[in-house]
Amino acid sequence: MASPSPHTPPSSGWNDDVPDDGNGVRSDPPAGARAAVEELLDEVEASTEPRPLMAVGGLEGKAAIVTGASSGIGRAVAVALARSGVDVAFNYLGSDDQAHRDADVTEQELAACDVRIYRRTVDCRRPDQVNDFVDRAVQHLGGVQILVNNAGIGRDRALWRMSDEEWRDVLDTNLSGAFYFLRAVAPYFRAQEYGKVVNISSIHALKSEFGLVNYAASKGGLISLTRSAAVELGPSNVNVNAVAPGYIRTTRLTDRVPSEIMDRAREQSALGRLGDPQDVAGAVLFLCSEAARHITGVVLPVDGGHLA
Ligand code: NDP
Repeated sequence: MASPSPHTPPSSGWNDDVPDDGNGVRSDPPAGARAAVEELLDEVEASTEPRPLMAVGGLEGKAAIVTGASSGIGRAVAVALARSGVDVAFNYLGSDDQAHRDADVTEQELAACDVRIYRRTVDCRRPDQVNDFVDRAVQHLGGVQILVNNAGIGRDRALWRMSDEEWRDVLDTNLSGAFYFLRAVAPYFRAQEYGKVVNISSIHALKSEFGLVNYAASKGGLISLTRSAAVELGPSNVNVNAVAPGYIRTTRLTDRVPSEIMDRAREQSALGRLGDPQDVAGAVLFLCSEAARHITGVVLPVDGGHLA
């Protein structure tokens, strides 16, 4: 199947299917407006690489835990925080050599930002490991003010073929793992009456697709966890929010998802492109900043208008 251009206006749009105005006259937009839209779409298409992230002020000297930061979105978030002067502790699963090599890259990028770093393999499905990691990270970095629950996996399959293990692995990693980390940092955040939590959910929590019952349930659960935790931790001046990325170009996505689905996702996004990890990192940075001090319990889609 030939993939449509990401910028082909949808058939219901003004380009080829403009309704008439009741008097038999088609109300096409003026040529100037049309040219401006086309120019904008060309610009969007030309700029496939995200601009380097600006550092956000006001975060210097804080410390963050970013889960699953050996690659993809987690690495981009960790590095964006470090560029803003935040010390970073990160974990990853580390089940093969590649995972350790990936974590080396993250560590090198963090080191270039001249911040303190704490790195360990920790399985977020194991509350004992999570508790120990959080306590040691706090000792190593001298405190913790930010938690980004990013570690996540997918095991996609039609629900009638899905094994117990595929269901459990995804729920345990994406939802229980986030809960264990949140529970472990909560006493620190409450005691210091300050904290920022950002949970990485997904647009598939809000609009599902075939084969994702385990993933959608875990990411939907993460949104409910976000709202409930915001209510419980709000009185301690802790903000708890979620971001819901659309299709983001990480190797996890490009290795696993068929190109037809990526083409369709590109076509369905209002901006006509897939996102990059830095796009998610920018939203996380904002939610961790004082610019977002009055925002809690929300879900911010970072999807190029996929849900629009
Ligand atoms: P990656 O596969 O690149 O990164 C996943 C990270 O999670 C890795 O560091 C991995 O470690 C870690 N991890 C996996 N399982 C565990 C575990 N049991 N314990 C600790 N760490 C673990 O994925 P992405 O960057 O693409 O995705 C990151 C997050 O963003 C996920 O939660 C994903 O669901 C979400 N997301 C991604 C989208 C996308 O399009 N890419 C869209 C929407 C949401 P290791 O490498 O050692 O296994």
